[in-house]
Amino acid sequence: MEKIPGESLSIDRKQRARLPSLDISHRMVTERVCDFDDICIPMTPEEAMFEASRCVHCPDPAPCVEACPTHNDIPSAMWLIEQGEFLEAAKLYRQTSSLPEICGRVCPQEQLCQGSCSHIKSTHRF
Ligand code: SF4
Repeated sequence: MEKIPGESLSIDRKQRARLPSLDISHRMVTERVCDFDDICIPMTPEEAMFEASRCVHCPDPAPCVEACPTHNDIPSAMWLIEQGEFLEAAKLYRQTSSLPEICGRVCPQEQLCQGSCSHIKSTHRF
């Protein structure tokens, strides 16, 4: 699968930069102590598409890709997710990571891709 070149994407980066992030919902503790399911309530496809649409597609090399130990092509995956192409995005991640589902759970993304995201740095309040 080819990289989706952010430089040639016709997108309104200023408008994207103004989009708010969605709050992540967590399951109740009383529920969580009874199983080993995810703590976070998974996003709906529409929520994931919205979140992906906040990516401003930084010029190559994007800070998120540089910060990722496996150099996942995160901007291209965000573009595919934004279009609702979830399986294509998963295939893209599999090109650089043999266990993307596990990485998605154990990676300290707040310090890696997410922590280096130029959009989040400019909008997120820690
Ligand atoms: S750093 Fe953030 S805004 Fe830039 S390409 Fe990566 S995910 Fe998108």
